[in-house]
Amino acid sequence: MIDLARRIHEVEARISSACAACGRSPESVELLPVSKRQPSALIREAASLGYRCFGENYVQEGSAKAQELPQLEFVLIGPLQRNKAKPALQHFHEILSLDRPELATRLRQMAEELEVTRKVWIQVDLWDEATKMGGCTQNDLPALMEALGEDPRLPLQGFMAIPPPERPEAFQEVAQLRALWQDTLGRPLRLSLGMSDDLEAAIAVGSDQVRIGTAFFGSRRGQI
Ligand SMILES: *Cc1c(COP(=O)(O)O)cnc(C)c1O
Repeated sequence: MIDLARRIHEVEARISSACAACGRSPESVELLPVSKRQPSALIREAASLGYRCFGENYVQEGSAKAQELPQLEFVLIGPLQRNKAKPALQHFHEILSLDRPELATRLRQMAEELEVTRKVWIQVDLWDEATKMGGCTQNDLPALMEALGEDPRLPLQGFMAIPPPERPEAFQEVAQLRALWQDTLGRPLRLSLGMSDDLEAAIAVGSDQVRIGTAFFGSRRGQI
């Protein structure tokens, strides 16, 4: 508990200094703790320290935790297969990894069938890394937007990305993409950018949400 509280304090302090460095208010940045491959006991501790919403990568693991901890909210930040659309909509409050038109179509069908509304974010990959992490390329984005079709059951929040560490300009590129689509859609969009190692760079380009795993919870377990 003491360790967790200290790590959380350090992360919050890093966010505050990063905000101070670019003239932003610390409240303008949401800290999303990422609890993948962390035990439920630790998530409970984080909840007792004031955190209510957690990011999970795997549908099965996250669904199990959501059922075990119904007082908390879980959001899906990992790749989603079309055949897992139903459990994803049942157990997660938001989906941050929408990255292709077929998945949008499937989620729309399932959301209607289940009669649920879930916030979604489009995960983008502007650097041709698509194989590993998922993410929609810039070229495929219009088709994905069209497939999503401003469905009121799946309100679009903004963009999520995992910029490659070796490409410092990547953060700015995502920020520009956001600006472009804000103009196109005529409304504000959020950015979920920044993890344990690069939250400062993300905040500097205007990220609204940082997703923090190891710096928050400590190193991940091999198995739960
Ligand atoms: C694991 C993960 C994180 C957290 O990574 P850390 O480096 O542990 O902070 C954030 N976002 C996504 C999409 C992840 O898969």
